Amino acid sequence: MNDTHASALDRESGEAYFRDALGLLPISIVMLGERGQMLMVNPQTARLFGYECDELIGKPVELLVPGLHVDSHVPMRAGLLASQASGDRTALHELSARRNNGTEFQVEIGLNAFHFDDDSVTLAFIIDRTERFELERNRRDLAHLTRVSTVGQLASSLAHELNQPLTAILSNVQAAQRFLAADPIDLAEVREILNDIVQDDYRASEVIRRIRAVVKKGDLEVVSLDLAGIIRDVVLLVRSDAIVRGTRVTLDIEDDLPPVSGDKVQLQQVMLNLLLNAFDAMNDVPPVDRVVSVTLRRESNKMVCIATSDRGHGLTADKLDKIFKPFFTSKPQGLGLGLSISRTIIGMHRGRLWAENNIDRGATFFVALPVGNATEQDESRERP
Ligand code: ADP
Repeated sequence: MNDTHASALDRESGEAYFRDALGLLPISIVMLGERGQMLMVNPQTARLFGYECDELIGKPVELLVPGLHVDSHVPMRAGLLASQASGDRTALHELSARRNNGTEFQVEIGLNAFHFDDDSVTLAFIIDRTERFELERNRRDLAHLTRVSTVGQLASSLAHELNQPLTAILSNVQAAQRFLAADPIDLAEVREILNDIVQDDYRASEVIRRIRAVVKKGDLEVVSLDLAGIIRDVVLLVRSDAIVRGTRVTLDIEDDLPPVSGDKVQLQQVMLNLLLNAFDAMNDVPPVDRVVSVTLRRESNKMVCIATSDRGHGLTADKLDKIFKPFFTSKPQGLGLGLSISRTIIGMHRGRLWAENNIDRGATFFVALPVGNATEQDESRERP
């Protein structure tokens, strides 16, 4: 037996061992060639995607994971594995995968490039993330539902707030009709009335804009945010509710605060929940004392903190933590989800939400969030 023949046999039996080993592993593994073609596929992969192993050999990996683009002119290592170039060999890519029957599901893919004799190959580990994805979607739906139900509590006061400009528009239009019927027509008066109508229309659409901003449903949208703007928007949203309940809201916002990175709708949801809880906590307090103060300050180089303080009944020691558990409520109509969802949201923003009793009366809810714009945070997240 000559050397070439022996090494060919070695390689063949090496490949067979390798194939057997891949077959024994409990996860889906695909070996890819330089152009992303599938060289080896373990049975777990074939089962997960609804194929026979043989059907997949030689086919491009995009058949299984359409988003895993492989540039046919750029070898896999250079084109796909940018994360590995930065030394992060275990980076996972979250992508959408497609089964043989066309249904899509979420996967996480880890890629590892290495040399097999003289060939450069890549091992792709595919982890089925359907369950986690469903969980995430349920969490999002629940957060949305809670938001809609919270805004539902504001419905009557918002209807009242909308009714005002609409009534004003109607009476202004009637006045304009009377002026137009007169002879001579007082054009200056009509012009002024039209201006009033435009202003009232702006007021009405501003109310609608604020409602829509909060009940919006969508994927997590992480951008650089001005927290002060978010707080002011929510305070405006609850303005009429505060008036109906005889409550004042004071704002104390430090100037020139750096942006935070996060999802606007979700942070609005947290603020909305904290404010409405503070209103509820003061239901039995004499109207002169019904004040909620919201402060926004820089806490350190890295954090800003919102404190929402009320003068209500406060929290008993055992409640300080319990209130953040799902379905804990002391209100007859309460869902008990607001604070638990708020804590999850703030946690996802790498911040902290907690409550303390005030020295004199009532409670303060603190939301500490890291500063930094969206891009900076993405970069630091990618660092190992
Ligand atoms: P819900 O408002 O539906 O009860 P939350 O999760 O928002 O759900 O709140 C849970 C519980 O925490 C409330 O029922 C109340 O007992 C308590 N709580 C929340 N905010 C305050 C507050 N500002 N002061 C006193 N207790 C509060």
